[in-house]
Amino acid sequence: MVTGRNQLSLVNESDLQLLATTQYNTFLSENKVLKSSSSKEAATVDRVGARIANSISKYYDSQGKGIILEGYKWEFNTIASKEINAWCMPGGKVVVYTGLLPVTQNETALAIVLGHEIAHSIAKHGTERMSQAMVQQLGGMALEVAIAQKPKETQDLFLMSYAIGSQVGAMLPWSRQQETEADKFGLIYAAMAGYDPREAIPFWERMSTASGANPPEFLSTHPSDETRMRKLRQFMPEALKYYSPRN
Ligand SMILES: [Zn+2]
Repeated sequence: MVTGRNQLSLVNESDLQLLATTQYNTFLSENKVLKSSSSKEAATVDRVGARIANSISKYYDSQGKGIILEGYKWEFNTIASKEINAWCMPGGKVVVYTGLLPVTQNETALAIVLGHEIAHSIAKHGTERMSQAMVQQLGGMALEVAIAQKPKETQDLFLMSYAIGSQVGAMLPWSRQQETEADKFGLIYAAMAGYDPREAIPFWERMSTASGANPPEFLSTHPSDETRMRKLRQFMPEALKYYSPRN
């Protein structure tokens, strides 16, 4: 419905959201979560996240496509970690690592990253990868059966499918097509929330510099290259149609 292409979807979205909620809470319990009442970083993430989430909800409602966000219960959390990373699980469960913030440097660039990660979730990229993984590794078992019978394997497949955490070993990189879609819709989502999408160009350049010789996991799943920059520039006129600056 969002991407306009046929996508493999063998897992039920509400089962996936249920699994995501469990995995999200486990992740938060194992990491140092910053409170927005005492951390400026967390307050910023909350503010930018809420603006984007509200804008996306309003937009899809106004298009009669509110079903796209069915079951979404947005949560934005910031964890203390040197890692340059951020992700969004199904149902709108977002984590930003503080290591990302010196690279984003400003709220607009943070909005670009959040838009991108949220776009992976709304475009159901993880659902696609989870479906493929379930076929390849669990013989196409239904998700609720897999959770009951092979909980550990299912959780690992989930974390791999959503590019979360390094403890599960090799992560699946997002495909070039998924990256392109996340970049495109990410720009639009940031623009809708009143953030200038043009910030994406200097941001991804900073990201590329920050990674140096040892790209962080975030970058190994989000390849930064000439093609990406060219495509971002191609998308820009469309994204700018959704943009009006906040007061
Ligand atoms: Zn991505």
